Amino acid sequence: MNLLEIQKLKVHFPVHQPLFGRAKEFVHAVDDVSFAIAPGETVGLVGESGCGKTTLGRAVIKLIEPTSGRIVFEGEDIAALSGPELRARRRRFQMIFQDPYGSLDPRLTVADVIGEALDIHGLACGATARRQRVDDLLKDVGLDPSHASRLPHEFSGGQRQRIGIARALAVEPKLIVCDEPVSALDVSVQAQIVNLLQDLQQQYGIAYLFVAHDLAVVKHISRRIFVMYLGRIVESSVAKEICCSPKHPYTQALISAVPVVDPDAKRKRVLLSGDLPSPIHPPRGCPFHPRCPVAEARCKTEVPFLREIEPGHHVACHLNVFQQTVL
Ligand code: SF4
Repeated sequence: MNLLEIQKLKVHFPVHQPLFGRAKEFVHAVDDVSFAIAPGETVGLVGESGCGKTTLGRAVIKLIEPTSGRIVFEGEDIAALSGPELRARRRRFQMIFQDPYGSLDPRLTVADVIGEALDIHGLACGATARRQRVDDLLKDVGLDPSHASRLPHEFSGGQRQRIGIARALAVEPKLIVCDEPVSALDVSVQAQIVNLLQDLQQQYGIAYLFVAHDLAVVKHISRRIFVMYLGRIVESSVAKEICCSPKHPYTQALISAVPVVDPDAKRKRVLLSGDLPSPIHPPRGCPFHPRCPVAEARCKTEVPFLREIEPGHHVACHLNVFQQTVL
């Protein structure tokens, strides 16, 4: 059984909410997205800024209220849950935030940042058990338990991200949404945090939804990758297929922009013209058609839906993706 199943999820934000009546325009941040995550699996979610990946990551764990669709977590639809019902289930899904500086309360010691989560969910009986659990979690994320009484500003960016990971781990989640968890860190520290996440996954069997714009990082950690464009998933497959044999013209452009280690390796760079269109008025037909280097006439009027072109490889494109390539 899948750990998480997202079915036809939409998140539309009103552009301007009048005092009376209904909003007339909406930002189509997430549009008709469906996917599943197995227990202990890492799924990468990539796309350029503004494509809706962070909104989708937050909506699947109900930090943002979805407009419609189902969020089936461990067999139960949590999309409509709120209040105490949602709180009771919240410990099973957690989030690691992009900003290790802003995501920790500067007034709380590390022991309290982590202990607060234990208190809320009643996971440590008494001060001794709480302290022991905090110490164990700090060791799990590679920090010295003797630093538990320090404040967040006394730590480096990488150490603060480790504290954020310990806080998420405290409630023994089954799924962690990692929202650009390394993009604010130095490159050398990024690798350490990614390796730590992989080690913790081995140890605890946690599933990750890893949201990032850096395909090189996503490729390293993910078993499968979903590529998002203007609120929709346009391609999904196992990481190797996406990176070595991308089929959607947008994925091909993303892959062509990833730096290669071998200076002799030749790869044609696909430059996309224009910016991401407005999610308030997404283009008709294929949302990618104004920037697509191989668009046809019907791309302007017909919406391409995700279709399976090989087992487990889905692409939303009208063209015969085995014949065309822009790389
Ligand atoms: Fe390009 Fe048309 Fe495919 Fe969209 S459907 S990606 S516009 S070729």
